[in-house]
Amino acid sequence: VEYVERAYEKIEKYDKTINALITIRSKNEVLNEVKENIVRGGKLAGILIAIKDNISTRGIRTTCASKMLEDYIPPYDATVIERLKKEGAVIIGKTNMDEFAMGSTTETSYFGPTKNPWNLERTPGGSSGGSGAALAADYVDLALGSDTGGSIRAPAAYTATFGLKPSYGTVSRYGLVAYANSLEQIGPMAKNAEDLGLLYTIIAGPDERDATTIDFTPNLDISEQKLEKVRIGILNDILEMSEKPIISAINNIVNKLSNEGAIIEETKLGYAEYALPAYYIIAMSEASSNLARYDGVRYGYSRYMEGSWREVYAKNRGEAFGIEVKRRILLGSFILSAGYYEEFYLKALKIRNLIKMSLDELFKKYDILISPTMPILPPKIGEVINDPVKMYAMDLNTVIANLAAIPALSMPAGFYNNLPIGLQLMGKYLSDMYLIKIASYIE
Ligand code: GLN
Repeated sequence: VEYVERAYEKIEKYDKTINALITIRSKNEVLNEVKENIVRGGKLAGILIAIKDNISTRGIRTTCASKMLEDYIPPYDATVIERLKKEGAVIIGKTNMDEFAMGSTTETSYFGPTKNPWNLERTPGGSSGGSGAALAADYVDLALGSDTGGSIRAPAAYTATFGLKPSYGTVSRYGLVAYANSLEQIGPMAKNAEDLGLLYTIIAGPDERDATTIDFTPNLDISEQKLEKVRIGILNDILEMSEKPIISAINNIVNKLSNEGAIIEETKLGYAEYALPAYYIIAMSEASSNLARYDGVRYGYSRYMEGSWREVYAKNRGEAFGIEVKRRILLGSFILSAGYYEEFYLKALKIRNLIKMSLDELFKKYDILISPTMPILPPKIGEVINDPVKMYAMDLNTVIANLAAIPALSMPAGFYNNLPIGLQLMGKYLSDMYLIKIASYIE
């Protein structure tokens, strides 16, 4: 009772300001479930968790932070939700995010921006900013986010928490509202590496309802991972593009790691300047095709039903999608249109391959690659939202892992003027648990 009371007290006290939650479940319902689940048992028996609002939860509104799905109550649970429930976890609410996960600051939400609990003038990062803020404001100890091009790691970095973008195909996307299928994964967010590992191993594993999941089930491995002889490459071409306080925070950590016996070398990714354009071309192309289903007839907001199908379509979509989503549908459709496909989309796929190949080579030499998670400190609310190019540039370091399908983790790396800084660890495909163990050692 106390545990649930405490969570709701904090939410009542702070969430009017922070705005981390779009939907908060009734305290009584949650309390009853917690009691039942403690009796029933499981690895998360009676533990509260906050879920990003693009993950389907049966009977709980799932809006994607869009007017398009404002009243949508899913009739089914995502696979990750089924797995959490089986282990006794209890959903406390759904977290704020950028509309359809498109953004880096949680400011494109139809429900208004989330504020960073560390500094209310700043963004908590995005698009899973509500999940990061719910952890930092101490409503819960566990949360789920989704990461298409950094959306778990950006908020982890900006709220001084831990977040993992899992190896592609290790976590089912069944029940995740699609933004860019070839890039995204649902992933765990937590306050320490150990909880991150526990949550990851519960949600991961093959699922026949998502054909892109692979036949691999990670095991929770809590044996100690020393840093001695671990080969670490610092991605200098990326580090150099970061703000000064971030560079010094990362250098501090590098010195510590080297004192612990890690073998550290400076290296570079190569193609770093092409990663971002390649990512946005692929993401927008997939987005434009995924978002075609919200036509007001089969799915989504349907206020207008009169007139030709064009009119119905245009009015409903015109009214219910926000500006960033519209921008991406337009750009994505343009990129995929006849005559431009080769010029943009195919080129982006080639760059994606070059980046993959470059990483394959690097992982022959290094066990992990490190960089800052974000190139800049958490921006002020309002600072980047009207400058899309500036907002896209925030994803420079994170999109690499999504393009290459490899795991990437963000963990706290210190503060500058009370603003959190994140360290990113990347590892080869399926080395998720290894990254978590290294993070737990550094922590
Ligand atoms: N900021 C990136 C984008 O807007 C990443 C979003 C995400 O990972 N969902 O596409």
